[in-house]
Amino acid sequence: MALYSANSLYVTNSLGGQKELFTSIVPGYVGMYVCGPTVYSQVHLGNCRTFMSFDMIYRYLKHLGYKVRYVRNITDAGHLENDQDQGEDKIAKKARLEQLEPMEVVQRYTLDFHATLQQFNLLPPSIEPTATGHIVEQIEIVKTILAEGWAYEVNGSVYFDVAAFDQQHQYGKLSGRRLEQMMANTRDLAGQEEKRNPFDFALWKKAEPQHIMRWASPWGDGFPGWHLECTAMSTKYLGTQFDIHGGGMDLKFPHHECEIAQAEACNHTSPVNYWLHANMLTLNGKKMAKSTGNNLLPGEIFNGENSHLTKPYSPTVVRFFMMQAHYTSVLDLSDEALGAAEKGYNRLMDALALLPKIEAQTSSQGFDVALWRQKCYQAMNDDFNTPVLIAHLFEAVKQIQLLVQNQIQLTESDLLLMSTTLNDFVFDVLGLETKPAAESDSKRVHGLVQLLIQLRNDARQNRDFALSDQIRDALSDQGVVLKDTKEGTQFTLE
Ligand code: AMP
Ligand code: ZN
Repeated sequence: MALYSANSLYVTNSLGGQKELFTSIVPGYVGMYVCGPTVYSQVHLGNCRTFMSFDMIYRYLKHLGYKVRYVRNITDAGHLENDQDQGEDKIAKKARLEQLEPMEVVQRYTLDFHATLQQFNLLPPSIEPTATGHIVEQIEIVKTILAEGWAYEVNGSVYFDVAAFDQQHQYGKLSGRRLEQMMANTRDLAGQEEKRNPFDFALWKKAEPQHIMRWASPWGDGFPGWHLECTAMSTKYLGTQFDIHGGGMDLKFPHHECEIAQAEACNHTSPVNYWLHANMLTLNGKKMAKSTGNNLLPGEIFNGENSHLTKPYSPTVVRFFMMQAHYTSVLDLSDEALGAAEKGYNRLMDALALLPKIEAQTSSQGFDVALWRQKCYQAMNDDFNTPVLIAHLFEAVKQIQLLVQNQIQLTESDLLLMSTTLNDFVFDVLGLETKPAAESDSKRVHGLVQLLIQLRNDARQNRDFALSDQIRDALSDQGVVLKDTKEGTQFTLE
């Protein structure tokens, strides 16, 4: 696919908060890093929204013709229960509670994560590195930051010296915070005694004897701080400066702020040109989160077994629902909104199925396909504006209905352009699928025809031939042909 208006893609850069023209470091290539899941439990639908947002971005960049190296990590060590470097490692805790090896926990939830994302039709990233697979790289970064003088060692742990760093660099530039203000607003210093400053963060933590996930280091047995893995893996696979770094809005501080500090301290350069943050999915107006229990698991939506929704929804309908909101907006999940999304999705798919049946005419009248296609690209080039794109797709749905009614007409090449554009955006960029609806429709047709065959057989047994013939003829009118054989009545669809 040739580059289509790639020069005019604008993205909202969280660093500075402005919409900026996107220019990749190497023309035609994009390096993108997205923080992956901490694999200690099943992903909830909120997590899925963030990964889906970046899947859409990945898909669109590829559609524009960029060669994208998309790195999304798996956090399988180092993520403690709270952001102040306290509490147990989330994976080690789960392993302790369930009497499993930590790597059994990691394996179980990594597989679950992949299976879930596959159901939502997410493309796999180009590289999916793990924190535990990059301990050596993380130790090297700690050594460099210590040598540069931006970190200190206490009792086998190494902390980043935020106050010292802030004097020469600006700590807090991504989240718009100033260190003095943060310090003034901080009261809770409990458990932070080792640190020179409560905002210092762990690069390396000493492992207490009971800590099961531990590695040898120059500072004794320990484990890496959570923020460090993303710096290690993004630098290793994308370089010291790369194009896009993504993640959920809630990771902006402290996680991404700390990533910037680490990379600047180590490599003397700002690591990322465009920071993109996806907004939260809420349920009942509150953020979906594992910790509060206010969440829905994807499986509970697909099978309908939950207390929030009146019926099940297919993965592709849920994906369509997500795509109807801009990735930087908060989105609230409700039965009503999912129901409306399902109706919209069905209308879109019905229109797509009609398009190949429309007869081409010698001239086009009533719809400017090229202009409409341009509007679709303009929407996506405006910071991946999927809700506006979807509004344009529904403009096409309306035009397809007019074409069916012969109120407007298109030439063969315009019909082809319309069909290619719809297919590109619906399937390649938004990542929707037709299969589940088509499968369930054919199952339903099968069931209904079997029911009518049964009623016809009952009528024949009761010698009510008028009714049995009526059923056979009505089915035939709908293209369902019955054939009575020794094995029973069979049918074919014409
Ligand atoms: P975690 O596994 O907790 O590290 O989270 C994985 C990803 O999901 C991160 O990018 C989070 O920002 C994101 N996330 C967590 N909760 C939500 C939510 N309610 N809506 C959207 N994204 C979320
Ligand atoms: Zn990260």
